[in-house]
Amino acid sequence: MSRILLLSDIHANLAALDAVLVDADTKGTIDEVWSLGDAVGYGPRPNECLERLRALNAIAVAGNHELAAVGSISSLDFNPYAAAAVEWTGNVLTSESRAYIDSMPTTEIRDDFTLVHGSPRDPVWEYLRGHDVAKDNLGLLETLHCVNGHTHMPVAINAASQEHTERGRGPSEVIELTDGRWFVNPGSVGQPRDMDSRASYAVIESGDMTVSFYRAEYPIRETQQQMEAIGLPLMLIQRLELGR
Ligand code: ZN
Repeated sequence: MSRILLLSDIHANLAALDAVLVDADTKGTIDEVWSLGDAVGYGPRPNECLERLRALNAIAVAGNHELAAVGSISSLDFNPYAAAAVEWTGNVLTSESRAYIDSMPTTEIRDDFTLVHGSPRDPVWEYLRGHDVAKDNLGLLETLHCVNGHTHMPVAINAASQEHTERGRGPSEVIELTDGRWFVNPGSVGQPRDMDSRASYAVIESGDMTVSFYRAEYPIRETQQQMEAIGLPLMLIQRLELGR
């Protein structure tokens, strides 16, 4: 059995990522790290966040922000704030960071799990929100379960259940990934949007097939000051303390 650290939507928020890595360490040994896309974009430290993931030998899939930063997809579909941050990110990425992003698939399979940023149907762009979208994606899912990001909302959805199962918003909540086919989103490390400003992450125990959701406090002001120094959009700076 192994313990897998689920990270998503780090968004170049190094202070948040480091706080999560420290916090996760206190919960037990981590055997594998999975990054579900958007490690860059919005935030001030893209290269450093990618370096952390590489040093951890993370299994990392690309999100829309990675692909736009290296020019693989257009940033025309981004809102103006995201587009401004993506443009800045693209300008500061090192050649090592670019090569790392270029090496990231958009879909990866590990044992019982498919890893995507968005959804099995559209790994880059689809927002996997709610039971209906999860059910629509079941036929395209080649593994028992799916782990995804993109919505910045921590949630576990049992798509095979008749009931609308949607849980995982509470801190330190443990969910058994049994009796069904689950879509698990660990929430966002670097830009939470569920009105809780703390960094969000999750840990899967593959032995007993459970997922635990956690929140970690981090020095939000530190990231905001880094963003101010760069001149990233004010809206992106302010939303971090609001958690939305
Ligand atoms: Zn994102």
